This record gives sequence, C-alpha cells and structure tokens, in this order.
Amino acid sequence: MDANPAVDESVIQAEVLVLGGGPGGYTAAFRAADLGKQVVLIERYSVLGGVCLNVGCIPSKALLHTAQVIHEADEFEQHGVIFGKPVLDIDKIRSWKQSVSAGLNDGLARLVKQRKIRLIQGTGRFTSSNTVEVQTETGVTTVSFEQAVIAAGSHPTKIPSFPHDDPRLWDSTDALELTEIPKKLLIVGGGIIGLEMATVYHALGSEISVVELMDQIIPGCDNDLVTPLYRRIKKQYKNIWLQTKVTSIEADKKGLKVTFDRAESAGGTSDKGKGAPESELFDAVLVAVGRRPNGKLIAAELAGVNVDELGFIAADKQQRTNVPHIFAIGDIVGNPMLAHKAVHEGKVAAEVAAGHKAGFDALTIPSVAYTDPEIAWMGLTENQAKQQGIDYDKAAFPWAASGRSLSIGRKEGLTKILCDKQTGRILGAGMVGTNAGELIAEAVLALEMGADAEDISLTIHPHPTLSETFGFAAEMITGSITDLYIKK
Ligand code: NAD
Repeated sequence: MDANPAVDESVIQAEVLVLGGGPGGYTAAFRAADLGKQVVLIERYSVLGGVCLNVGCIPSKALLHTAQVIHEADEFEQHGVIFGKPVLDIDKIRSWKQSVSAGLNDGLARLVKQRKIRLIQGTGRFTSSNTVEVQTETGVTTVSFEQAVIAAGSHPTKIPSFPHDDPRLWDSTDALELTEIPKKLLIVGGGIIGLEMATVYHALGSEISVVELMDQIIPGCDNDLVTPLYRRIKKQYKNIWLQTKVTSIEADKKGLKVTFDRAESAGGTSDKGKGAPESELFDAVLVAVGRRPNGKLIAAELAGVNVDELGFIAADKQQRTNVPHIFAIGDIVGNPMLAHKAVHEGKVAAEVAAGHKAGFDALTIPSVAYTDPEIAWMGLTENQAKQQGIDYDKAAFPWAASGRSLSIGRKEGLTKILCDKQTGRILGAGMVGTNAGELIAEAVLALEMGADAEDISLTIHPHPTLSETFGFAAEMITGSITDLYIKK
C-alpha cells in the first residue's frame, strides 16, 4: 500500500517535541517518554545538560569544592595542622572541572538512548504552530509536532555600553573557563553568581572587588542571613562597594578602566557606597547582573506563542502557554531561574502532555548561594512577611551553640525559622553556615507537609549534626529549648 501522500517523509514526526536540552528540557523529554510518548529533543550544543551542567551549577560547584579545600587547609593552622602553600595547576583544575560535567553528559546521552528519544543537535525555531525548523551542522531539518515543550533557557545579561568583545570582560561562562587567574578581578553584581565566582577566584589567588547596586549583597535574602557571609568576605576581599554603580568600562592597554558612581538608590543617610574610587584599573571584570530569557530567539510568534518584551513566555499552572498544545518551562517562563524549578516544571509539562492531571503546586522553590558560608532560604522571607503584614513568630538559633559547628571550626552560622503566630505552622526558614544548602531541604519538606513548630521540635535530629539547629530553632518557638537559656 502507498504511504499516506499527506505525510512528507523528510519531515520528522514527534508526539512531543522538546526545544532545549537543559535540566528542564531533558527532564520533560524523559518523563514524556516514560509515559509512552514518542519524543524528539532538540539541543543546539553537542552535549545535553544546558547552562546548569556545562557552564553553570555543576562546573561552579566543582570549582567551589576546590576553593573550600584551599580555604580549609589554610585555616587548619588554628587546629594545629599546617599545610604548605598550595601549588595550583590551573590546567589540571580545569580538566578536573570538565571531567565532572563530561561524566554527567555521558550519563544523559545514555538515558536518551535507553528511552529511545530522538535527539537532534541544532538550533530550533518555530515555523508554525506545529512545526519547528532545526539548523543542524549539515542542513535544515523540519520536525512536525503534536505537542511541544519550550525549554530554551536564558543567557547572561549584557550591559550595552560595556566592551563585551574585550576578552578581559567576562560573563559567568567566561569565568568558568578558567583561562587565567587575574591579579585584580572586579565583580559587577553581588548576587549569587557574582559571589560564587568571587569565592572561587579569591581561593585561586585573585584580589577581589565587588560592586553591588543595592544596599546589601544577595538583595532577595533577609539581611540577618547575609550578614555572616558579608562579615567574612569583607575581611577577605579588597573591596565591597554597596549602593554603587559602574558608569563605564573602557579598554586600556594596562587593563579595564572602570568608572564608579553612587547609585541613585543610595540617598538618605546611609554611608554605604562611599569609598568607591572615581575609577580604577582591573585585569578582568566579571559582569553578573542577572540573566535574560531566550524567548525572542526561537520565533515563538510564528507558533502564535506570546513573548513579552523581556523575552519571557507566560505559562499557566499546567505549564501551557497561550497556545494550549505548546508548553513552556524553566528560565524562559520567569524567575527564579533555578534548575530545580525547571525540572519540576518539566515533569508537570510532560505529565499534562501525556494526559495526566498534573499542575505546578509546589509551595516554595528553595534558593541556595554556594558561597562560604553557604546561605539557603525557602518559603516566606522575613522581609516578605513584614511587607505582607503577616503575624509571625521568629526564632534564630546561633550556630555558636552547635557542637558540630564548633567542631568544624566555624561559629558564624544561624538557622532561622518563621511560624504562623496563630497556627504555629512553618512559613519560612533560612540558614547560613556550612552545608546550609543541604540543610534547607528539611525545611522545604516541613513546609510542604504543613508541619508546625511542635512537629519539628518533636522530630529527633541526630546529635551532633548541623541539622539539629533546625530542631533547636523550632524549640525556641515552642519554648522547649534547653541548649540555650531564654529568659521568660
Ligand atoms: P542575580 O539577580 O541573583 O544578582 C545580580 C545582582 O546584580 C543583584 O544583586 C543586583 O542588585 C546586582 N546588579 C544589577 N545590576 C547591577 C549593576 N549595573 N551594577 C551593580 N550591580 C548590579 O543574578 P545572577 O547572580 O547573575 O544570577 C542569575 C540567575 O542565575 C539568578 O536567577 C540566580 O538565581 C541563578 N543562579 C543560581 C545559582 C544557585 O542557585 N546557586 C547560581 C548561579 C545562578
């Protein structure tokens, strides 16, 4: 029998097409395949994993681990063990970092094969509400789809007047390349990327300056959680200029000439932001002032999908865009631009596409800065509780009273918990200190399970662990704490 004349055989057919192979995209593809869908996954790079695995979360964590070991060895003198000055083999550090990503790339490639997903390497753009054209190395391939998931991510924000072509002006991808260790490194933006990269380059020997527009580093986080980090890096780094903006960067033979000014937000009586020079030369400058969604790079309008001015694509609780058979997930649908949010959304989109009743109903998306000390928070921040006029009880357990924290030579940590004044239910929590990023998961579970302070305080935490500090904070709220004396 003749093939159906309506079907063009040069066109690849997909029940579910996924555009973008980052954590959100590959998760959506895997879940859809596991639910019986025939899936085509399009990724522009030769490896899967997107920004997170290749030029983001994973390589940065590999380098942050190196930084941590260097710092710990240095500080161990106080514990009676003296290590020599570290000898850094940058090429070896770089190849170790790459090997971490490569191992995960290989694992993903295997998972694609095992699930019989068709992977096309190339850049995809919509040509209609049911077709995508992929520019591959060898030509153009057309994929026709029944349903699609847009998972095309984001890119680092560029400041137009800066000389971005100069190799000494970096974005986070350049910083992770580790091509050189600049003597003087300026970091523009005291957010998570800026401060994680500052941690790495400081350990590798750069003199660090940070310039931040707002009146605190990591502006989205409560100030009491940020303060222990601020105090530590204030001693380590050459400068931290708050409420300060960069007005220009000029390429000079001797370096990048950066000009500063006090930010408009720096009105009032604050003396922060003073102290920045009019201009200074740096060997390299990392610009880490946020990320922009890639919504405008995929010709979504040809599919009828609305893209806003910034490049975001709105999605509902089922991750559907305004075109019901096209879903969107991850950085492209909005902040926070975090891999774990994208993964969760990817599962929702795949499940809905496969006809399941699913929706994004997570109560919180935790945030972690993998600095030293780490900072992690989830649920309502105290700033938000105040702004929203929510009546809350608060407890903050100081890690100076944690045997485990003292035994690792650190005492600056804090575990904070906010509970509803009437019901006692946990509303939010945050930690600053070693491994805070691991500890926050218990608070997220408590929030999802509707736990109250008593539930948490009656949960036996192993001793001596840092996790106890979460139980102690809850005991401070219930009034049963014995590890501190709180005057009634
Ligand atoms: P960010 O928004 O977290 O921080 C940018 C910082 O730059 C802010 O503090 C902002 O006030 C400041 N800023 C903005 N414009 C400035 C200017 N002109 N001069 C000086 N300061 C300026 O953005 P990021 O650190 O670039 O991270 C981008 C995204 O990636 C975020 O969504 C972040 O959550 C995510 N990310 C997460 C992790 C993690 O979870 N550990 C790690 C890296 C990145």
